Amino acid sequence: MGFFSTTKTIGILGGGQLGKMLLNTTRQWDIQTRVMDPSALAPARIGSNAFVQGDLMDYETVMNFGSSVDILTIEIENVNAKALADLEKKGVQVYPQAAVIQTIQNKCRQKDFYKNNSIPTAPFNLFESKESLKDAVGRGLISFPFVWKSESMGYDGYGVKIIRSNQDLETVNQGRCMAEDLVNIDKEIGVIVCRSVSGETVSYPSVEMEFHPTANQVEYVLSPARISNTTEKRAKEVALQVSKAYQHVGLLAVELFLTKEGEIWVNEVAPRPHNSGHYSIEASYTSQFEQHIRALLDLPLGNPENKVSGVMVNLVGAPNHQGPVHYKNMEHILAIEGVCPHIYGKKETHPFRKMGHITIVNKNLETARQIAEQVKETIKVISK
Ligand code: ADP
Repeated sequence: MGFFSTTKTIGILGGGQLGKMLLNTTRQWDIQTRVMDPSALAPARIGSNAFVQGDLMDYETVMNFGSSVDILTIEIENVNAKALADLEKKGVQVYPQAAVIQTIQNKCRQKDFYKNNSIPTAPFNLFESKESLKDAVGRGLISFPFVWKSESMGYDGYGVKIIRSNQDLETVNQGRCMAEDLVNIDKEIGVIVCRSVSGETVSYPSVEMEFHPTANQVEYVLSPARISNTTEKRAKEVALQVSKAYQHVGLLAVELFLTKEGEIWVNEVAPRPHNSGHYSIEASYTSQFEQHIRALLDLPLGNPENKVSGVMVNLVGAPNHQGPVHYKNMEHILAIEGVCPHIYGKKETHPFRKMGHITIVNKNLETARQIAEQVKETIKVISK
């Protein structure tokens, strides 16, 4: 405690939209922040008290930045984890802890973690190289179809490919990887858990994610998820099991598959604010961002339940548009009740770049979902 209206500082590695939204709470509570990002145009440069331009993967840069703050957190997991571990040794409070980041930075290590902690996840095999995977396929140890995942940090599906043939197999990158069973997915859902320094834990209601058919990006997030009470209970149970295993401090967004057979399997986690929790700014009693700050400062956690239903639409760059951004038809969507736009402040758009999001709140989830579709069809992120 003692962070309110003092010179104590929270440092945030990464200055994207997640950082920008975290800063709403620090501004509201007059908590001092320092943000570091490689881009001088980072969305979070404005709301912070001090902005440092720097490489998040560079050991010395992260050490210097981390040494200048009291608590260090992240809004992106691609950071130098060795520096975080050394900062912890020097007494900096690093949340999420370096060990959590080290585990999740590597998809293979993350999967092993679930296996070792008896957490339900899709069956998988790890391979040292593309060649050893091909060899296993050749000898009939692995059969088509399966999902190839690169060990190193992919995001939004870039390190993931469904492999149905030898031809598909030729297209994957070199390097350590896994072959995961292709899951018969009924729905993709998520549960955000928050855990404070002293171990108080709350979990948000499940959300349901709808994907864009071709871009493999989340198009709508629905809160609450349209699932049975039994499935909701099971999803929370699994998410809490994951949270307990990591012993993280701060948010943990747990991505889950609900299989056609009714099982809940963990796909992966993000130990930070997450796209699937943006709805909470308007629809929940406590937003994910405020909750994260509460957890880092070891304050009592807030109520994670919904006040109303919420549907979030990602506002992404239109295909075939590249250059200075223009948000077309904002005035039209703002005329609709319950429409809450967030513009991240990125100057340039390109196809499918996340430029903002819009949350639609309504007492009725289906009404919110319909309005979300109308909003999506109306607003366009184009270049001037
Ligand atoms: P990223 O880290 O790039 O987001 P994910 O592991 O979350 O990658 O995979 C991206 C998407 O690919 C998932 O949201 C899901 O739609 C699909 N996917 C991933 N693993 C599987 C699987 N084992 N079976 C079926 N679909 C999968």
